[in-house]
Amino acid sequence: MNNGQNKGLAMVQAQLPARKTIALVAHDHKKPDLLEWSKKHKSQLSTHTLCGTGTTGRLLEEALNLPVKQFLSGPLGGDQQLGGKIAEGDIHCLIFFWDPFQPMPHDPDVKALLRLATAWNIPVACNIATADLLLNSEGFNRTLERPIPDYAQYMQNR
Ligand code: PGA
Repeated sequence: MNNGQNKGLAMVQAQLPARKTIALVAHDHKKPDLLEWSKKHKSQLSTHTLCGTGTTGRLLEEALNLPVKQFLSGPLGGDQQLGGKIAEGDIHCLIFFWDPFQPMPHDPDVKALLRLATAWNIPVACNIATADLLLNSEGFNRTLERPIPDYAQYMQNR
């Protein structure tokens, strides 16, 4: 009987730094929401390192007048680049306003990005309400403990 324990993957304790690298992404109809949200939280965001997919990143940099590292545009590989950085431990939080009302040609990439963010246990917000809670949460600006997959153990068992 399954007792609910995950026997598949050993986990190890890791940390998210106090100054986080935050990835911001919005699908086209959601870009106005993300820009407005980011402007509202500019002073908080300015204490972290920002990055995003190509178009989102460029619009944010212009709107906030803060440096935002820009990866490729999402449909051309940017979502996958962000996923890779999450797996490498270089992105510590994902704000991803994806569009629940539009099918996307890069749906598999969207799913892959969300999957890796879950697998590597970083905080994720997909709408304004959650993004507000996340950024206003007391612990956000502190070092945070998080269990992540034990990569060394995983490789030993291959
Ligand atoms: P964009 O990509 O920021 O380049 O528009 C976002 C996405 O569709 O994933």
